[in-house]
Amino acid sequence: MGRVLLGAVCRRCRREGIKLFLKGPRCDTPKCAFERRESPPGMHGIRRGKLTDYALHLREKQKVKVYYGALERQFRRYFQMASRSKKNTGEALMSLLERRLDNVVYRLGFASSRRQARQLISHGHIMVNGRKVDVSSYLTRVGDRIRPKDRPKSMERVRAALQESNRPVPDFLARIEDPVPEGQVVRLPELADVSIPVQTQLIIEFCSR
Ligand code: SF4
Repeated sequence: MGRVLLGAVCRRCRREGIKLFLKGPRCDTPKCAFERRESPPGMHGIRRGKLTDYALHLREKQKVKVYYGALERQFRRYFQMASRSKKNTGEALMSLLERRLDNVVYRLGFASSRRQARQLISHGHIMVNGRKVDVSSYLTRVGDRIRPKDRPKSMERVRAALQESNRPVPDFLARIEDPVPEGQVVRLPELADVSIPVQTQLIIEFCSR
């Protein structure tokens, strides 16, 4: 997502045929481009025929990749890690994506979108276990404590996002807001923690080709 122009963001939702919540608060308002026009972008905005088997698999992978803002090489690495896992590959893949620091910051309500979470992280506003982490793809672990850096600008940005957020914190995370906003990973995320429908089998088949 970091590579996608702002004006192109909503087109990603229309292309994948699902709201991917890429723009923060706007996504929950009538201004959401997907609510206004669900058809995919392109000529006349009309869905162009039935998807081929290949396209079906590709689109499912792209949907998940865009949703989490993962780069292609990162996504491939997650797939390799998931394939080596003792768990079901699809579940392991989704767990890895949910563990990304940008996702955790977003799901804690410390940012209004994963994109904004990536900005916060790359600008050095986020600490994990008391140390600054400026890598959005950092994979959180059980017990990790995530909070804004102890300086006014970082606190203000996180508190502003918290005030706007009406999203519930998923069960694999815990959050306190006072005296300082802080979140903790209390268990590894599972498929049930993922908040969009995903056909993991299609992704596994695509990545195994
Ligand atoms: Fe997607 Fe709607 Fe958010 Fe745009 S506003 S990113 S179309 S959910």
